[in-house]
Amino acid sequence: MQLHSHPDKLSSLRAFAAPLRCPHCGDVMVAPFMSEFVVGGEIRHHWECDACGTSSCTSIELAVDDEADAA
Ligand SMILES: [Zn+2]
Repeated sequence: MQLHSHPDKLSSLRAFAAPLRCPHCGDVMVAPFMSEFVVGGEIRHHWECDACGTSSCTSIELAVDDEADAA
């Protein structure tokens, strides 16, 4: 089995999963402990800081630019 590198895919993956910093202590939070899909086109990530234990929430709106332009 060979390992292939896909720089384009990797960069887009990193942009989507950019590291987030804790709003309380500034420590890097690597991955959300829970993610949910919200009806209407939104992904909500729930984070808990390993360093201070503060919970926070971020949301990503899914791109719907084409439909917005047509309206
Ligand atoms: Zn923290």
